Amino acid sequence: MYARSFGATRVSVPVIGQGTWHIDSADRKDAIRALRAGLDAGMSHIDTAEMYGDAEAIVAEAIADCREEVFLVSKVVPGNATRRGVARSCEASLTRLGTDRLDCYLLHWPGQHALEETIAGFEDLRRAGKILSWGLSNFDVGDLDRALAIAGPDRIACNQVLYHLNERAIEHAVLPWCERQGVAMVGYSPFGSGDFPDPASPGGRVLDGIAAAHGTTPYAVALAFLTRLSGTFTIPKSSRSGRAVENAGAADLHLGAAEVAMIDAHFPRGPRPRMLPML
Ligand code: NAP
Repeated sequence: MYARSFGATRVSVPVIGQGTWHIDSADRKDAIRALRAGLDAGMSHIDTAEMYGDAEAIVAEAIADCREEVFLVSKVVPGNATRRGVARSCEASLTRLGTDRLDCYLLHWPGQHALEETIAGFEDLRRAGKILSWGLSNFDVGDLDRALAIAGPDRIACNQVLYHLNERAIEHAVLPWCERQGVAMVGYSPFGSGDFPDPASPGGRVLDGIAAAHGTTPYAVALAFLTRLSGTFTIPKSSRSGRAVENAGAADLHLGAAEVAMIDAHFPRGPRPRMLPML
């Protein structure tokens, strides 16, 4: 499985990981089996959140006998992100996940509490060994600048943002900012959260054609495109083992320049929106 350095952590992390939002709406055994299949196929980066219902408990079961091999990420909701609240939320996530530390802990989106408070809470946890690193999610460049000014260099591990074929807004400014600062860019909802391009559409046919040439699927082609740039990661979610294995395979799929250009032409990044899109 192709891996790259995860921002300030310098830890080598697979470019394709596993999301867990709504994984608790599938049959529990199937969900655990899918996460295990993904792990066996090399997707050892698992993304979860205190907000994802029963997902952390499902992850706990899936990683119980292989915690050391997993790069485990969870998130605090903005409403809990005071200095003390971050500590409380982290402790609760650790308990639900059945572990004593997170590899990365994220602020789910910018919220009402002062960023200084949240970052102080993250740094407390890092010093206490409860988290290896911390990062942000749904942060546009203005908020990223503020976070960098508070935390200083080499502190923000990643920014997790919406990134799929029909939503490439982050390529305008967020991704270049992350590249400049050595911050990993983790793209979420790589399949549009279930709204994948129709195979009968012109873009869908292009994906099909590229997939056929590589003996793979349009989904894998999308993941390869979304991780083509340095410093980028993606975290598809599936509660089906076969799909998890298929998604993992995309890490070893290399698209040629002409293929990238064709995808780019059918799924253009469009103009820069005023606000960073998020789900
Ligand atoms: P997604 O990964 O874009 O899409 C998931 C959907 O695609 C599910 O319906 C899944 O169905 C299906 N799927 C997965 N692999 C497939 C394949 N190979 N072929 C066909 N269908 C496939 O959606 P997402 O869950 O919104 O995003 C991924 C992760 O990003 C989340 O789970 C979460 O961890 C993270 N996220 C973060 C934020 C944030 O604010 N930071 C927001 C949204 C999401 P099955 O499960 O039935 O296979």
